[in-house]
Amino acid sequence: MSLNVIMLGAPGAGKGTQADRFARAKGIPRISTGDILRDAVQRGTPLGLQAKAIMARGELVSDDIVIGIVRERLGRDDAQNGFVLDGFPRTVPQAAALDTIMQGRDPLIVVDIVVPADEIARRIGSRLVCCACGTNVDDRNPAKAGACGKCGGRLVQRADDNAETVKERLRVYERQTKPLVEYYQVRPTFKSINGAQTPDQVAVDLNAAIATVGGGQA
Ligand SMILES: [Zn+2]
Repeated sequence: MSLNVIMLGAPGAGKGTQADRFARAKGIPRISTGDILRDAVQRGTPLGLQAKAIMARGELVSDDIVIGIVRERLGRDDAQNGFVLDGFPRTVPQAAALDTIMQGRDPLIVVDIVVPADEIARRIGSRLVCCACGTNVDDRNPAKAGACGKCGGRLVQRADDNAETVKERLRVYERQTKPLVEYYQVRPTFKSINGAQTPDQVAVDLNAAIATVGGGQA
């Protein structure tokens, strides 16, 4: 059975890290919409050219184009034995479109990495950036905080990571994602993972959860 995995999770839940780890471990592609959009633009595919024109006008790329680019990507050879989708779908209409794309293929396994809002706010609030060289520091170890490991520059909180911005990002995420979780959670292949643990433990739980729905005969 193909491991056709979707990962859901708020910004700061560690979704990207887990998607990357899982995809590498299983030898399947991690497909992030940002990456494939950039790739389509670079390769100058018809959809990529459309997207490029829209972004050049400073507008958001429409669902139709994003869905088209995802369809194209999931149709490639390396995605036939499975994939990890990261950042798509974001909305119920996108999820419905994905179901159409997936017709005739193994069922989607949906993993929701759940981290309480206050923990997410704490995590994001502790991300620092060097004001001299721009290096991001995602280290919560206070002994290392204060100076950049690369250039010794001063570390400051990222401008878009202040408490209000984080709260607003989480509100937007909640508003968008709640219907998406409701859309998927009725399925036997939906799994909720406790993301408020070490990345290693989250990875263990994730593997176990996916094995119960994708690896076995369930
Ligand atoms: Zn620096």
